[in-house]
Amino acid sequence: MRPLLLLCVLLLSCPDARAWNAAGHRLSILIAWQQMSTETRAFVGRALASHPDHGRWREKAGGDEAVLIFAEASTWPDAIRNDPRFSAEPGASELLPGFPDMGRHSDWHYVDFDRQGKRVRGQLDRKIGELSAILRDSQQLPEIAWALPWLAHLVADLHQPFHVGHEDDHGGNTVLVEDPADARRPFVKLHAWWDDLSGPSGLRGKRLHRRAGEMLLRQPPPAKGGTTLWLAESRQLLAQAYPASTGSVSRVIDADYRQWAQRTAERRIVEAGYRLGRLLEEIQRQRVSRGTPDGITPSR
Ligand SMILES: [Zn+2]
Repeated sequence: MRPLLLLCVLLLSCPDARAWNAAGHRLSILIAWQQMSTETRAFVGRALASHPDHGRWREKAGGDEAVLIFAEASTWPDAIRNDPRFSAEPGASELLPGFPDMGRHSDWHYVDFDRQGKRVRGQLDRKIGELSAILRDSQQLPEIAWALPWLAHLVADLHQPFHVGHEDDHGGNTVLVEDPADARRPFVKLHAWWDDLSGPSGLRGKRLHRRAGEMLLRQPPPAKGGTTLWLAESRQLLAQAYPASTGSVSRVIDADYRQWAQRTAERRIVEAGYRLGRLLEEIQRQRVSRGTPDGITPSR
């Protein structure tokens, strides 16, 4: 097949990628866990234990280690894209007990802007605020269990530059790049190439722990900030995130670009982890100081 034709077929045949891969999400959870107190870890553990998919996460985590179950839970907003219990129309499926809706909410994973910087579609940053408020205020355990994996997932997504992308190229989803170092997949969507920078998507268990530990040693803690800062940082990185080298049919990943992108992706995942940990810590403290009943405090 001629290269140009091949590019067109590739662009049309693959669905848009819309997330760090599962390894990126799991790594940010392991890093968040390091920032969390025993009380906040217990709050998270109890909330997740009441989620209808807790058994699946436990199985994938290979046991009862709370942080690994939380790591699996953070990939749940991607898993429901193929889950028949959920649908594109939030009201179209039967509610799981206590869930506010059964939507797949594909537009929560990103926010796209036009070339003048005006937001056009997607709700990523806004949903982080709304989900944080639910976790602070809700007295309904199933609602807390629903909101927590979403919040954990979206904080990481906001740190991926192509999740705050240009609407005219669908956040890098219509940009094919050539990666000469990948014989198996020489042409790939730029967004998907970035999603996979976090490592093999099956990264779990001891190897996951080891990798998170190495990343923490290499990367300093970030400034705290909030969604406005996190979004602005990703937008700034986006400006540099299109490879400058071009080949005969597309932009090309060269050694300098690869090195910059790998370093940047690692830093963003660590930053997301630190910030999620602090955010959950804050949420837990506010619940305790206001005496918000959550029905999940164990009886003493
Ligand atoms: Zn996502």
